[in-house]
Amino acid sequence: MSFDPAEHPHQRFDPLSGRWCLVSPHRAKRPWLGQRDEPNVDAPLAYDPDCYLCAGNARTSGHVNPAYEGCFVFDNDFPALLEDTPAPTEIDPLFQISSARGTTRVICYSSDHSKTLAELDTGQISGIIDTWRDEATALGERYRYVQIFENKGAQMGCSNPHPHGQVWATDFLPDAIVTECQTQSDWLNVHGEPMLLQLAAREAGGPRVIVESEHWLAIVPWWAQWPFETLLLPRFAVGRLPDLTPAQQHDLAQVLKELTVRYDNLFETSFPYSFGWHGAPTDGDAHAGFQLHAHFYPPLLRSASVRKFMVGYEMLAEAQRDLTPEQAAEKLRAVSPIHYREGA
Ligand SMILES: [Zn+2]
Ligand SMILES: [Zn+2]
Repeated sequence: MSFDPAEHPHQRFDPLSGRWCLVSPHRAKRPWLGQRDEPNVDAPLAYDPDCYLCAGNARTSGHVNPAYEGCFVFDNDFPALLEDTPAPTEIDPLFQISSARGTTRVICYSSDHSKTLAELDTGQISGIIDTWRDEATALGERYRYVQIFENKGAQMGCSNPHPHGQVWATDFLPDAIVTECQTQSDWLNVHGEPMLLQLAAREAGGPRVIVESEHWLAIVPWWAQWPFETLLLPRFAVGRLPDLTPAQQHDLAQVLKELTVRYDNLFETSFPYSFGWHGAPTDGDAHAGFQLHAHFYPPLLRSASVRKFMVGYEMLAEAQRDLTPEQAAEKLRAVSPIHYREGA
């Protein structure tokens, strides 16, 4: 019997995070029990008087949002990081501690409470990219690392449906970034080319592609841990969001639109996820080999309400999946690129 990755259990390696994932494709053949949820076609209101992100409303801090259109950015009222805070001085090899200074901001994508990124038009999405670039530039001048991200949906612990993301800037490099700096730098030294640029070239036109454009590629990575995890890759060398050309940004807005629409269409629901950009740190080092990219980590497995849990073996040993990344990509390619709510 010869090995077939669509049939036989195996492990796949993620060279970016340095982690392995157990793939059990034989189990994906079990009948898909689980429920088929009704499409979610509730039309939420464009303005919610109780929403602290809607234009003109007061936040719990007492600040009142301006009558904004497009994006609106403000400092988080209950920040996880402080700009000015003393540094610890103790040194203990067992109880290590390090300073943490930073700032956290909230980015409202639109004044329309009812629309998610997938339902905004590409001009509005390009406006969000402008805001990401402005924040990355301004905060990058003051901090060593800028993390832009969005936590979407009640299943991800985000209770407010108003379309918004966040940006956290820190005087330290967070754990995942330390790892990605090391793995990408090591790859460049050994292979002579950035890892993710090689990946984009190898994946183009292949079985894990969901959206492919002139400048960008959205794939379910070979090593994906979450069922419908995706990796958004530039097909050109670039380290940070502010370095994109207008053509690359225009193209990116279209790819973000199509990818998020396909996500929503998969289970006909507003698809929950954690999404974020990884760009090269702004700590003064060159970071050769670090390619800008974005990760989408959605929790759903087989319907709008049946999600994947990373528990048990995954908490204690290694991530595990049944559906192969190729099968996940096929499902995301098979749905319409037109949002299911449109014309509904
Ligand atoms: Zn709102
Ligand atoms: Zn990354």
